[in-house]
Amino acid sequence: MFSVETTATSAYVVAALLFILALAGLSKHETAKTGNSFGIAGMAIALLATVAKAIDGDIEHLGLGLLLIASLIGAAIGLWRARVVEMTGMPELIALLHSFVGLAAVLVGWNGYLHIERHPDGVDAQLLGAHRLLGIHSAEVVIGVFIGAVTFTGSIVANLKLSARITSTPLMLPGKNFLNLGALVGFSALTVWFVISPSIWLLAIVTALALLLGWHLVASIGGGDMPVVVSMLNSYSGWAAAASGFLLSNDLLIITGALVGSSGAYLSYIMCKAMNRSFISVIAGGFGIEAGPADDKDYGVHREITAAAVAELLTSADSVIITPGYGMAVAQAQYGVADLTRTLRERGIDVRFGIHPVAGRLPGHMNVLLAEAKVPYDIVLEMDEINDDFADTSVVLVIGANDTVNPAAAEDPGSPIAGMPVLTVWEADNVIVFKRSMASGYAGVQNPLFFRTNSAMLFGDAKERVDDILRAL
Ligand code: NDP
Repeated sequence: MFSVETTATSAYVVAALLFILALAGLSKHETAKTGNSFGIAGMAIALLATVAKAIDGDIEHLGLGLLLIASLIGAAIGLWRARVVEMTGMPELIALLHSFVGLAAVLVGWNGYLHIERHPDGVDAQLLGAHRLLGIHSAEVVIGVFIGAVTFTGSIVANLKLSARITSTPLMLPGKNFLNLGALVGFSALTVWFVISPSIWLLAIVTALALLLGWHLVASIGGGDMPVVVSMLNSYSGWAAAASGFLLSNDLLIITGALVGSSGAYLSYIMCKAMNRSFISVIAGGFGIEAGPADDKDYGVHREITAAAVAELLTSADSVIITPGYGMAVAQAQYGVADLTRTLRERGIDVRFGIHPVAGRLPGHMNVLLAEAKVPYDIVLEMDEINDDFADTSVVLVIGANDTVNPAAAEDPGSPIAGMPVLTVWEADNVIVFKRSMASGYAGVQNPLFFRTNSAMLFGDAKERVDDILRAL
């Protein structure tokens, strides 16, 4: 017999499968679009099933009206933001969306407390039917609120850092590791206390503690480690959603949260390995990393070059490697770069691209831009595939990249980015750096590459300079 409850449960299973297919699709750029479509379909089914369940249940007219209005407003804002966001603004938008998940988990947790623990008799027998044991419910509340609040403020700091509204240099409070550790010990003690004797002020203290911890964890992490932080917050937001799923007895939310949580954690781990960072150090807010000495070194003088001189250099080159970075995305220079690549290849010059795993502001950022400009996949190589070839290369064009080509990471153990693998562009015969000024990159670290004798600076907007070179060619 037809029942909304069983139909909704089946719809949840279908949605969960679609989410798994979405993740599988998103792991390769050839299948990413299909993966995205699976995700959209899964989310649409999940939303419809949830609304149908609410209508079938004991929801009042007011509640239903609020649900529909909230869904419509949310969908309209989501569509608008997704349409207008620049590719370079994606990571900060994602960080903001994670903060919403965190906030929702905090509100669900508080709602759970007000519904059950706060009930006049302490326990509402009917409501507790679903949550047999009050202690388990209290633990779900306090853990959900904690993860949600850490995700909320952590994501807001990440958003502010990524949009350059606050500095990306790490906050170095004295005894920062003890502050983080103290907050975790405090949370464990408060959880036990809350489970034994739930009260509103205990929940308020846990919320405040978690909000401060989230803020401090992300504020303590330096610019170079931000890519890992974004994927780590993605993971936290998944666990926050799963915690809400337990509270709401919603299996789909538990499955989806666990999928996001574990895939985000795995991505953070891969990125840490690729960047030679300690996973524990990054998730523990830069644990074990101390402030380095102030950089007041004299690096010497830099040399400038004109677009016409670069064109001449390129004409006589045998091999060229282009290493793009965030500046290429800002300038939207990828189309000019694709034209330049075509022109040089037509003249028999070997042109390839070297892509650093965290170039730009989101994983795969450069690959997406180059694919958009129709640069052939087979000449776009990963850092590990191309790093040995720089020594045999006539000209390297560093287009709007900075931290990802910084020799200090390989040569200066005191540098804040020491140990991070970089593209060894300085080994080539000539290095041309496209940027607008001598300003540092995202990590806020000076780049000795600019002062090397085989380097020259081509100042100005990357798109304009690439167009100048094309004209000169
Ligand atoms: P960087 O952010 O280090 O440097 C970009 C350079 O581009 C700047 O030095 C800037 O110099 C130049 N630039 C900016 N606008 C223009 C323009 N219009 N024309 C020409 N140049 C321009 O870039 P990288 O890609 O090398 O490194 C990425 C950094 O971002 C790393 O530190 C990474 O850790 C971090 N990050 C990466 C994420 C990811 O997932 N990929 C996520 C979050 C952070 P100037 O101002 O002088 O023009």
